[in-house]
Amino acid sequence: MLAERIGRDQFGILWRQIMTSLLKAAHSKAKLNEVIKAVEEDPAYKEIYQKWDGLTLEEMAEAWQKTNALMTKAIYATRPFCVRCGDCCQESSPTLYEEDLALLMNGILDKKDILTLRKGEVGYSPKEGRTVILTEELIKVKEKDGEGPCIFYKDKVCGIYENRPRQCRTLECWNPESFEVFSSLKPLDRRAILAEDHPLWEVITAHEKRCSHEVLSSILENRQEMDQTSEDKALDIILYDLHVRMFMEEKAGMQKEEMDFFFGRPALQTLSAYGYRLEGEEGQPTKIVKIKVNESASA
Ligand code: SF4
Ligand code: SF4
Repeated sequence: MLAERIGRDQFGILWRQIMTSLLKAAHSKAKLNEVIKAVEEDPAYKEIYQKWDGLTLEEMAEAWQKTNALMTKAIYATRPFCVRCGDCCQESSPTLYEEDLALLMNGILDKKDILTLRKGEVGYSPKEGRTVILTEELIKVKEKDGEGPCIFYKDKVCGIYENRPRQCRTLECWNPESFEVFSSLKPLDRRAILAEDHPLWEVITAHEKRCSHEVLSSILENRQEMDQTSEDKALDIILYDLHVRMFMEEKAGMQKEEMDFFFGRPALQTLSAYGYRLEGEEGQPTKIVKIKVNESASA
């Protein structure tokens, strides 16, 4: 947030200005001057304010973060409960944990409603509270158009509220401690959902082996140094992934909507996430090329 040093007076003006939008975002009906006073009276803020002008830029950035935490704490102290605003449902969908298996068994959730984030993919980890390269497989409820609102959030209400997943029941936006619960919970994965003798395991295992997200991501990340062998390997992963999906739909009758659960997100999606596309005839691409700025704008 802070790109350059600012004086103590400017710091004081800046955080007070931000408080207005934070109050609004938290749907708090508290008065602005009350929450400002709560921050001003906090001993941690008093210390920051007193020392501000003598801080280095790095220390200022840290002090700014601490002030932000104090502001959030003061605001949520005025609204320590859920107002059913739906902001959390609009931002993303939940990751599923072991106890959510019951939702799949009793038909509240269907395989068409969920998707697999495979090891090696970039994804949000509730355990770590940030976007990371996933070191374990996760299952998530799908989001509308692949990002943003949860598919069950319609007309400003949750369509499965009484049976909503564990994450939705546990996370309290006003309570940072509620996020810590997830470090001790076991996320669901395909192994936990599908029976050991499920007829598709063979195909899933072969797909996993040949279409590794870890391998594809590492090739695309180092595209500058990509030699012909790496490019061929990336093409092989993408084409095999496409082939498996096409085969399962056309020959095995798998519904398209279930595909992202059984095989994870398509490798093609990873390709475009790194800013590349395939070039060549349809069904027979021969090259991986960078998406030009005007291409992505018109897409
Ligand atoms: S938990 Fe979600 S719905 Fe409830 S107040 Fe927070 S953001 Fe809004
Ligand atoms: S399942 Fe319901 S509560 Fe959970 S994110 Fe989706 S809409 Fe919100």
